[in-house]
Amino acid sequence: MTTKSKQQQLDKLKNNIISDKVTPELSSQATQLVFGEGNPDSEMVFIGEAPGKNEDIQGKPFVGAAGKFLNQLLEMINISREDVYITNIVKYRPPNNRDPLPEEKSAFMPYLDQQLTIIQPKLVITLGRHSLSCFLPQLIISQVHGQPKRFKGRVYLPLFHPAAALYNGGLRQTLIDDFVKIPLILNKI
Ligand code: URA
Repeated sequence: MTTKSKQQQLDKLKNNIISDKVTPELSSQATQLVFGEGNPDSEMVFIGEAPGKNEDIQGKPFVGAAGKFLNQLLEMINISREDVYITNIVKYRPPNNRDPLPEEKSAFMPYLDQQLTIIQPKLVITLGRHSLSCFLPQLIISQVHGQPKRFKGRVYLPLFHPAAALYNGGLRQTLIDDFVKIPLILNKI
């Protein structure tokens, strides 16, 4: 598939989320849908939990404090943000940044699955335990972070969430150590 047709399919999927009225409770309280952005041909897709305040305002994922840290991590491995694709499990901001409910996560999973089917990344990088649990519910992030996991034809890399690492010095270094392994892991897939 060409980059252009991938982008067209992603645009269509975005419109489907709106017309299907996924999580109407959440959408009625959010400013807008935060679908995801980046290179539809990227080898890697980063998947966070849900938009926060800044993401809700700008309509883009990871543009607040956690996003700045994610940008710095990408710079460390010489990859620019435009080269990767970034999205979230839940695509509307939960009120007051509460944790997304299990039913909100499941409502978005078929759309996220289609998003990944269109992009066809080599590596799906889950950020935080919510994202990990949507794909590999039996795994515990503190035990598997930084270890690639192959499951049903996809390779996942569970990482700690950059927001958690921002407020915990120990986690911060762990996230950096895991992140710098990404080029090596990609080379081996
Ligand atoms: N945290 C997330 O999980 N996603 C965002 O887009 C921003 C912060």
